[in-house]
Amino acid sequence: MIESYIRDVPDFPKPGIVFKDITPLLQDPAGLALSIDELSKLIDPSEYDLICGIESRGFIFGTALARQLGKGFIPIRKPGKLPWKTESESYELEYGQDTIEIHIDAVREKKRILIVDDLLATGGTMEAAIKLVRKIGGIPVAAAVVIELGFLAGRERLGDVPTHSLLVYS
Ligand code: AMP
Repeated sequence: MIESYIRDVPDFPKPGIVFKDITPLLQDPAGLALSIDELSKLIDPSEYDLICGIESRGFIFGTALARQLGKGFIPIRKPGKLPWKTESESYELEYGQDTIEIHIDAVREKKRILIVDDLLATGGTMEAAIKLVRKIGGIPVAAAVVIELGFLAGRERLGDVPTHSLLVYS
């Protein structure tokens, strides 16, 4: 059971936030295998061509899933990290703004993309990732996360892109 591997860390990184720590899941061989196996079953792999992972915990699950299914992997990164030409998208945080970037040639026209992250909270990060994929000509067919904070209703921001999660806290 995925839930048994998730550690709640109160007041991290700031007061009032309960951080969902996935490191116990990753460090246990059975937990890591379970998470990748279960992610691979959420969406039929024939429905997408490539996997996009969001920095940084989306890289862990996204790359392992891509390797397991024989797909390629595309990183969506924080500003200034990608060496080639980028497209970027900014979004609102509780306090201030954040930006994510993707290489402009990461996706060939009309490739179908699964976007992966560890956790969906307000949905702002995933919404920006969906916009980025569209900006460079890809088709975001679905979003997959290990954990969804259902009470924040993040999936409602993702429009017609279906969201799949292994564990929902409601
Ligand atoms: P959001 O844009 O609000 O959906 O936030 C999602 C991003 O923030 C993901 O990349 C998560 O890794 C991180 N995040 C937000 N809230 C939490 C939380 N309670 N525990 C762990 N990570 C979180």
